[in-house]
Amino acid sequence: MQFEQVIAQEQVKHKLKDLVQKNRLSHALLFLGKEGSGALPLSIAFAQYILCQKVNHNSATNNTASLFGEEEVIIEPTTLEDSCGNCSSCIKVNQLIHPDLHFSYPALKRDSRHDKVLSTDYITEWREFISQSPYGNVADWIDFLKENSKSKIENPVNKQGNITVFECDDISHKISLKPFESNYKILIMWMPEYLGKEGNKLLKLIEEPPVNTLFILVAEDEEAILPTILSRTQLMKIPSLSNEEINKALLQHYNIEPEKASQIAGISEGSFREALQLLQNPEEDLQRQIRDWLNIIVKNNVSSQLKWIEEISKIGREKQKTFLKYFIHLLEQAVRSNYLSEENLKIIPEKDLDFSTRLNKICSLEAQEAMVTELEKAVYFIERNAHAKMLFHSLTIRFFHIIKDNSLILIH
Ligand SMILES: [Zn+2]
Repeated sequence: MQFEQVIAQEQVKHKLKDLVQKNRLSHALLFLGKEGSGALPLSIAFAQYILCQKVNHNSATNNTASLFGEEEVIIEPTTLEDSCGNCSSCIKVNQLIHPDLHFSYPALKRDSRHDKVLSTDYITEWREFISQSPYGNVADWIDFLKENSKSKIENPVNKQGNITVFECDDISHKISLKPFESNYKILIMWMPEYLGKEGNKLLKLIEEPPVNTLFILVAEDEEAILPTILSRTQLMKIPSLSNEEINKALLQHYNIEPEKASQIAGISEGSFREALQLLQNPEEDLQRQIRDWLNIIVKNNVSSQLKWIEEISKIGREKQKTFLKYFIHLLEQAVRSNYLSEENLKIIPEKDLDFSTRLNKICSLEAQEAMVTELEKAVYFIERNAHAKMLFHSLTIRFFHIIKDNSLILIH
């Protein structure tokens, strides 16, 4: 993966290249960026840049040259803006098979007999996942693993995946080896949040790694990382994408109407992953689902409610989240439409406006605001693995009371 293939993030790319060009790279970097910001693809593009033979040819004058500014020989700065994409190193990184580039990521324990869970147990699946969904999140990865694993995971013991103590030992082993083909060894650890206290085994390694070793930790949530590890890394903040950047990327890579691209960009909250989810779940489908739900709620037909709840419970939590977030977006548009003058209503897309008008007929502004609060809570609980059926059941009942009785007391 080249920098060019990573959406936007020009400032970060510039900063990273600058670190290499000025030999100021630290041994352990923490790429911290929210879901869908592209921190993972960025880390791979950076690894490719460091390992690229052309970049190295331009920079390294001999084998003892160091990127980390520790040697007396200061290497000639490279001026290349991106990896070449064609040398054998680039080709290997692109296929994630470069012997000096290692990956560590949450893995599943297949069954109770599967003791020593290592990330490399799932390397084939990992390569496939990254080539398909470089902007995916950890839930996408775990779902992918369950669906595609060659070694059947029928009843995984740890359903969320983790980075185990065996993995830490494996990292130490890999890092102790000499580089095979290049001057550097790189380990990208995706989601160090999934590293338990066994991660402390890695402290010394991160603090005093073998020569020319680079750790790149790619994380979303600073607070969930072991503080001992956090304090030993150099922070590289990866900002969320802007609406314009998402819009541009959608138009560039997907064959969609400009109006649709800008609508999706507007509701994806800086996450390209969210944008792709919306692209796969067309808005028309989501709106239809929401209308169906509201109709069933208002009619208070218990058997159709149960059927609807049964169906939504099966679609998986990422799709449920997209559904809920999209509903929040529509409600917010409806709330906003109440405050806008006739003239300014134009800023709301026609489809959303139509939905808002219908919604305004069945419930008050306060009810809409209460529903947004409920939906936000639901997203929070789904992220924490709430029982989907119970959650949608309780939402259905609450919405019935909010809409039908307008009795806001019941929502607390
Ligand atoms: Zn190259």
